[in-house]
Amino acid sequence: MTSRLVTNIGELVTWEPDRPVRHDAAFVVEDGAVAWIGAPGDAPATDTVQDVGGAAVVPGFVDSHTHLVFAGDRSAEFEARMTGQPYAAGGIRTTVEATRAATDDQLAGTVARHLAEMRAQGTTTVEIKSGYGLTVHDEERSLAIARRSTPETTFLGAHVVPAGTDVAAYVDLVTGEMLRRCAPHARWIDVFCEDGAFGGDEARTVLTAGIAAGLLPRIHANQLGPGPGVQLAVELGAAAADHCTYLTASDVDALAGSGTVAGLLPGVEFSTRQPYPDARRLVDAGVTVSIATDCNPGSSYTSSMPFCLALAVRDMGLSPLEALRAATQGGATSLRRDEVGHLRIGATADHVVLDAPSYVHLAYRPGVPLVTSVG
Ligand SMILES: [Zn+2]
Repeated sequence: MTSRLVTNIGELVTWEPDRPVRHDAAFVVEDGAVAWIGAPGDAPATDTVQDVGGAAVVPGFVDSHTHLVFAGDRSAEFEARMTGQPYAAGGIRTTVEATRAATDDQLAGTVARHLAEMRAQGTTTVEIKSGYGLTVHDEERSLAIARRSTPETTFLGAHVVPAGTDVAAYVDLVTGEMLRRCAPHARWIDVFCEDGAFGGDEARTVLTAGIAAGLLPRIHANQLGPGPGVQLAVELGAAAADHCTYLTASDVDALAGSGTVAGLLPGVEFSTRQPYPDARRLVDAGVTVSIATDCNPGSSYTSSMPFCLALAVRDMGLSPLEALRAATQGGATSLRRDEVGHLRIGATADHVVLDAPSYVHLAYRPGVPLVTSVG
């Protein structure tokens, strides 16, 4: 057994129920888990000591929604959009063509490069979706590559209907042979429920088939307009309904009375110039919210959780503390993980030392590299 004391912490965010933020604190890591929390002067003897010099320490970020298995570049599409053209879901097909043409090594290299970017910015748990293959072979290899890096892999064969394919025939493929081949590499099943992608009935068919194959449901819902996605998520007991940009009052009520996390992806609204979701309304209604990057080459090509957290504070009505909770514990809840996203005793000791005296700097100093170390 090895032990390490992390001490002289100016501000420590643990998410302990009675004391979520401590000052002048220390904690002990034993075999990778938090074993003790208290004042520096009371700390037990340990094998090693890490003195952080008064810095703030927060739980590692949990990025519960990413699309890292892709190839190609869509900067020209972004530039066009920023000069006046609206975002349409069909741009996904551009990435599909590039992804199918890429080798496994190229795709794995892209995943590794983005994961390194994420870790350097404090992310310690990442979900990765397939969805740029859209053939049995390309979806399966996308998930197999993602699985090398994280247990949180999501089968998103129902991302968009491939060009020239009938919707019903494609849903049959996704829920048939594609699901059989992909399920062994995935923990989650997902569907893009949106006009231009999959409707409510099709989304239900996809998620129900995934559940029957042993996968857990989550959904892309209510991104570009009102729709049935959120209600379907609640009805099926999905862990997450992600996007939630356009919600009716009954959608909010349904989420508030459920175990479904509302996943907020502010990088998308930033990168597509869409209205931001109203996070304040969700939190005030008692909905559990998460913040994630949705890192993908089309609608949100950022790997930075601190950037998304800052957007949630500036443009979505969350306090800095609420945004930090959504980016850590909220993400963990979205992934049904109880050992990450916090630093209570027993937690996996994923923690981020900031070059700042307070977690508030994550939103107060947007775009600034504040992560000193990730442990
Ligand atoms: Zn997404």
